Amino acid sequence: MAYAYDDQNIFAKILRGEIPNNTVLETEHALAFRDLYPQAPTHVLVIPKGPYVSYDHFAVEASDAEIVDYTRAIAQVCKMEGVSLDAGEGFRMISNAGDHGVQEVPHLHVHILGGRRMGRMVQPQS
Ligand code: AMP
Repeated sequence: MAYAYDDQNIFAKILRGEIPNNTVLETEHALAFRDLYPQAPTHVLVIPKGPYVSYDHFAVEASDAEIVDYTRAIAQVCKMEGVSLDAGEGFRMISNAGDHGVQEVPHLHVHILGGRRMGRMVQPQS
């Protein structure tokens, strides 16, 4: 079964400029912006500009240039936000995928969370 991408998702609309966002960083292949409902003092979402639904989709189908640019954008955001290990106290990076991953927005995004200790990685099922 092929990966299916729905271009009506909210991050696709952000990329098309149809709805606003609070941009932290924009590169050739990536956009980073603040989460609308932050769960930590730092809560930034980093998305590729290409139509990828999840990290595995991106890793399989994106070009080398997209993968390098996106990966470096994540590192740059961590540094800019003062949470990278050469600039701060660390962070948690999460990328939810699909139903079992409880992904709400079906466009690849990593959450960069920092500025406080994060607690247990996986909460009891709810
Ligand atoms: P996930 O459950 O991993 O798909 O997370 C989706 C995230 O997108 C949530 O943390 C939401 O708070 C965030 N979100 C939804 N809409 C927006 C928006 N328009 N701008 C910024 N963040 C958003």
